[in-house]
Amino acid sequence: AKISDLLRMRKPCISFEMFPPRTEKEERVLWKTIRALEPLNPDWVSITYGAGGKTRETTVETTDRIATETTLLPMAHFTAVDHSVAELRNLIGHFANVGVRNILALRGDPPGDPQADWVSHPDGLTYAHELVELIKESGDFSVGVAAFPEGHPRSPDWETGVRHFAEKCRAGADFAVTQIFFGVEDYLRLRDDAAKLGCDTPIIPGIMPVTNVRQIEKFAELTGMAFPEDLAARLRAVADDRDAIRDIGVEVASELCEELLREGAPGVQFVTLNHSRSTRRVWDNIRPLTEDAAR
Ligand code: FAD
Repeated sequence: AKISDLLRMRKPCISFEMFPPRTEKEERVLWKTIRALEPLNPDWVSITYGAGGKTRETTVETTDRIATETTLLPMAHFTAVDHSVAELRNLIGHFANVGVRNILALRGDPPGDPQADWVSHPDGLTYAHELVELIKESGDFSVGVAAFPEGHPRSPDWETGVRHFAEKCRAGADFAVTQIFFGVEDYLRLRDDAAKLGCDTPIIPGIMPVTNVRQIEKFAELTGMAFPEDLAARLRAVADDRDAIRDIGVEVASELCEELLREGAPGVQFVTLNHSRSTRRVWDNIRPLTEDAAR
């Protein structure tokens, strides 16, 4: 199946994002999570692409295994970092050979320091829209791109960022998945401003139930994402009580998903960090809404 077709069926689509394991222990955890999420019958699962080296092979291996050993539909994240166009073509060909037809096309960040200046491979690509074009001309793929409800940290201003986003859509993107965020209004502003430029590509919100305060603060530092002060205060108030943090994370993510789906978001992609517990609880909370909308 192709994600573009699933989205055309208009039911809100639900997917789970995971990262490639770096150790045997992480691999066991990931596969336990995959098996726990499989019965929920998500529309797809997506596997992030490593910043370099071995984890990239693991992305490809994990995506292949999901395609061949589970009932799940995999989407492979794929970046242009440190790849020549010939290498990119090879990997796209590999995905086609194992039946992976859904790819999230990303420019990526410099390995090591995501904030360092971007340097293209001498025979490679510079922007995600070029990768979208390359994948589209290489075969019958459904291609997604990244979207940034709070703006991309490297964009000089909001309008320029939205223009670049619309450019990726015009290059042939079938859908977009957002960076995680907490403000519904940020998502709506991106959707509306892209629509004003003639871009009606479905934008799927990326949602992460908070399970660990330090982790999300670090993420906010790295990406410039706003971590709402009221949420931070609620989490600080329960200090080291992990269950209480998890409960707040589930409640906040469920409310965010409900509002987004009511506003017509085409689905939700959960950032699971390879654990299923909170995601399953949010899924339970929003399920009536997705079933209502599907009828
Ligand atoms: P682009 O769309 O190319 O944008 C990069 C920058 O260039 C932006 O500031 C943009 O405004 C600017 N730009 C675009 N076009 C032009 C132009 N024509 N002229 C001038 N400037 C331009 N990273 C990974 O390494 N692996 C992953 O698996 C991964 N998964 C992700 C999943 C999601 C849902 C998201 C939102 C991000 C993910 N990332 C991942 C991070 C992503 O690679 C970085 O955010 C990266 O900095 C931007 O990638 P992009 O595809 O949006 O790039």
